[in-house]
Amino acid sequence: MQFQENSHPTGRVGRIEVIVGSMFSGKTEELIRRLRRAKYAHQRIEIFKPQIDTRYSDQNVVSHDSNSIMATPISSSSSIPLLAGVADVVGIDEAQFFDMDLADVCNKLANNGIRVIAAGLDMDFRGNPFGPIPQLMAVADQVTKVHAICVRCGDLAQFSHRTSEADRLVLLGEADAYEPLCRRCYNKAVREEYKNTTY
Ligand code: ZN
Repeated sequence: MQFQENSHPTGRVGRIEVIVGSMFSGKTEELIRRLRRAKYAHQRIEIFKPQIDTRYSDQNVVSHDSNSIMATPISSSSSIPLLAGVADVVGIDEAQFFDMDLADVCNKLANNGIRVIAAGLDMDFRGNPFGPIPQLMAVADQVTKVHAICVRCGDLAQFSHRTSEADRLVLLGEADAYEPLCRRCYNKAVREEYKNTTY
């Protein structure tokens, strides 16, 4: 690991904030809340999301309650520094779908005085760490883990349990494809599915 000189050409000190959680945990809403406050303070913001996320709109960071703000869809994390321009704050939504260079890109932005706020799923539907999120969490200045409510028992949920049969890891957050579950209910659901497929 190579350490870089912090140049801070503008005198600003950058940082990396990561917001993670399951489906329906309010990650994007929290990202939007932070970006809106920055905008209100006349800070320049640029928002990016992976090209793959075309659920509702090509141009918006879209949260499930239609509380949305404009984002630029890009296919590679290397485009972020090129397109960030003179931004004070860079927002990244659905960060789990970006390539493994994302943490490095965010580090460079922060070292150049930019506040980076990234939101994403920390685990895929199998409960495994998702894409570049573990690396991003490791280099972040601040990590916020938000929780959904378990639809089966009402405890705090951190798992995105897949309820559809589609076997695509990148299947996106439609309400009918996933449900948030707590650890106990998730393990129970997985055990039952395993039982149903073994005979
Ligand atoms: Zn539960």
